Amino acid sequence: MVEKTFSQRKVGCHLLETDKARPYKPGKKPELGPVWDKDLCVRCALCYVYCPDAAISRQDDGFFDADMNLCKGCGICHRECWFGAISMQEVD
Ligand code: SF4
Ligand code: SF4
Repeated sequence: MVEKTFSQRKVGCHLLETDKARPYKPGKKPELGPVWDKDLCVRCALCYVYCPDAAISRQDDGFFDADMNLCKGCGICHRECWFGAISMQEVD
């Protein structure tokens, strides 16, 4: 296997408080998912770093979005965003 460089690695999968993810079952379709307000987002990437499932990625415009096939709806990104740029809303 070829070792990835630092810039090729995904930063996600870091949890400072692992008990926060425990109530949620991986693989279950989430009832709530993150929605970004670009007017409030300062593109600090904290949400990207904190997502335990590496569901969040940087988009071409520099803002962030979640892959709902990976997101489990835990809401950590919403709680860790200092700027209130992420709200948890019902998933269709
Ligand atoms: S943590 Fe909040 S302000 Fe920072 S990039 Fe994510 S949504 Fe934007
Ligand atoms: S709610 Fe946010 S932190 Fe939790 S899995 Fe989805 S994108 Fe990641």
